[in-house]
Amino acid sequence: MDKKVLVTGGCGYIGSHTVVDLIENGFEVVVADNLSRSNPVVFEGIEAITGRKVENFAGDLAEPAVVSAIFEKHPDIAGIIHFAAYKMVGESVLEPYMYYRNNLNSLLNLLEACKQFGLQNFVFSSSCSVYGNADALPVNENAPIKDAESPYAHTKQIGEQIIEQCNAAYDLNYMLLRYFNPAGAHPSALIGELPIDRPQNLVPYITKTATGELEQLSIFGNDYPTEDGTCIRDYIHVMDIAAAHTAALKTMLTKPSSEWSRVYNLGAGEGKSVLEAVQTFEKINGIKLNYRFAERRAGDVIAIYGDNKKAREELNWELKYSFEDILKSAYDWEVALKEKNQ
Ligand code: UDP
Repeated sequence: MDKKVLVTGGCGYIGSHTVVDLIENGFEVVVADNLSRSNPVVFEGIEAITGRKVENFAGDLAEPAVVSAIFEKHPDIAGIIHFAAYKMVGESVLEPYMYYRNNLNSLLNLLEACKQFGLQNFVFSSSCSVYGNADALPVNENAPIKDAESPYAHTKQIGEQIIEQCNAAYDLNYMLLRYFNPAGAHPSALIGELPIDRPQNLVPYITKTATGELEQLSIFGNDYPTEDGTCIRDYIHVMDIAAAHTAALKTMLTKPSSEWSRVYNLGAGEGKSVLEAVQTFEKINGIKLNYRFAERRAGDVIAIYGDNKKAREELNWELKYSFEDILKSAYDWEVALKEKNQ
């Protein structure tokens, strides 16, 4: 498929893996990433894997003129995948205005430009956090949207609603992809997760503890009502998430909207506990992790995992990577990163 796609946040974690997957599937990719939370070294990784140099618009999408400039130069964009957003839950609690301003203004500008330039096929990077504390597991796409647990999650809920309203107003073709816990790295170890600060998420915290960059992993809570007392999440390989975006776009571009849905869960469909992640990591990489049990972390839900049946059936997408692959590739990437920085 030789269509042109705009990937906002294409230098970020999921964005960069998606750019690679799109290129490998024949798409031409244009990126818009202001590098405020990403590192341009990622473009070198993308080039090393795909052999392609990707054009990046480094302006701020929260500025309407920046968005217009992209579409004026590329009026033939066939689809937009919108990743660019702040994503740190804790930070969003401390600085909510920053999250609403950044995440919503960039979305509004893109949607307005879609109308102005007559562009269609908008894929929105959403999150399982829109479900809040789900009543039933696995969560499927029909689960009610509960009160958001953080301003970050609220920006995703509002974002979904705004897109739905644009569909009602001017027939915008869209899909909302709700991610569970993306982790792991490209098998080449040339791109992977690059937290700009001390990592907040479990897998990068584990890998940086394993390489000695961080001293000790704290497991937040071991007195939850789960089998081993630790929280349960649905970890999905970032390459599988990337492939789902390509599959989503292909579906939108080739099939009438009556043949697919608007909302898809992207998870592995299985819950794994924090302790299972630690133990599997130790086993698969032959490493002993320095960890301790600590207090529960505020705002953590006990268990969440998703039903991914709809995405598998309607997007012609399947999972290719296991939980072990996630933890192995994440470590390989961390080791490669450490060697590069030495
Ligand atoms: N977690 C942990 N120690 C850490 C980071 C995370 O025990 O240093 C736990 C966290 O409490 C949650 C799970 O790992 O139960 C996944 O957390 P993460 O922040 O990766 O994703 P979330 O599902 O919270 O978005």
